[in-house]
Amino acid sequence: MRAVTVTPGVPNSLRLTEEWPEPAPEEGAILVEALAVGVCGTDHEIIAGSYGEAPPGQERLVLGHEALGRVLEDPTGRLHAGDLVAGIVRHPDPVPCTNCAVDEWDMCRNGLYTEHGIKGLPGFARDRWRVQPKFAVGLDPALAQVGMLLEPTSVVAKAWDHIERVGRRAEWKPQTVLVTGAGPIGLLAALLATQRELSVHVLDRATSGPKPDLVRALGATYHATPVAELDFEPDVVVECTGAPVVVMAVMYKVGPTGIVCLTGVSSGGRTIESDPGALNRALVLENNVVLGSVNANRRHWELAAEALARADRGWLNSLITRRVPVGGYADAYAPQPDDIKVVLDFQA
Ligand SMILES: [Zn+2]
Repeated sequence: MRAVTVTPGVPNSLRLTEEWPEPAPEEGAILVEALAVGVCGTDHEIIAGSYGEAPPGQERLVLGHEALGRVLEDPTGRLHAGDLVAGIVRHPDPVPCTNCAVDEWDMCRNGLYTEHGIKGLPGFARDRWRVQPKFAVGLDPALAQVGMLLEPTSVVAKAWDHIERVGRRAEWKPQTVLVTGAGPIGLLAALLATQRELSVHVLDRATSGPKPDLVRALGATYHATPVAELDFEPDVVVECTGAPVVVMAVMYKVGPTGIVCLTGVSSGGRTIESDPGALNRALVLENNVVLGSVNANRRHWELAAEALARADRGWLNSLITRRVPVGGYADAYAPQPDDIKVVLDFQA
């Protein structure tokens, strides 16, 4: 069968392997036929050789962590042949740490977790894969075209879960949310904000392309101005750019008792002028909280599946700006200017 693979640490070792072995039974009882995988920045980093780890004893890593497939067989009876399914990306560390011990692997404390298509486990960019029931998430049958958005949606479902847990430290009735960055994570964070009936603002650099219209289609307001120029103070900020200037600006901009959730991973190494004393003063005097959020556990994947099932299908579909057949895999992994989400299609 076909698989898209890399040799981790070796730049541009991306290949489509035609004779990849069938998934081993130890990978899980549920056998799945791939429909599609989404492509994201982590894939680009792995292809560039700066990230990624093959399974123990193997040279190559199958890519793909934003899965969508159709169940071929599930002898455990939890899912049925034909059901749509995604595989949870992260598995708990073997020690396990206090959080992995209770299946909160998104909060792993020792970094020994494994991740499909990223770190020590084969990915989902292959014709067939297997998954253990514990890591299989069923999707609404209507999501056959867009269900590969479940993984990025799980990331924002976790961010919202943690924002709301922090919010409950005191009386909390948020009204406005600012999302910075209108990539897939930002747009999905905005979707979940509209489902909470908040007044939603999305800020991005783009003044053309699909982003402004996608934001307006949610009933949200689009801004292409610097954060400091916004004429309101948000109750919640979901920061999805990782850009140092934006990260600093939203910590000043957030309103009294406001929460800033950072989800963007910065590359580091770029310095900007800052006044830590003034920032500290701004955060303390307004009871602000700044938290980082990454990955998701099973509870968040299930919340994400519900959120996608409730969302407008046409809008979700318009996040997918290119669908590339597996044979043209190299195109899928070559970014283009107006890309939002690119999908590798195993059925085309
Ligand atoms: Zn752990």
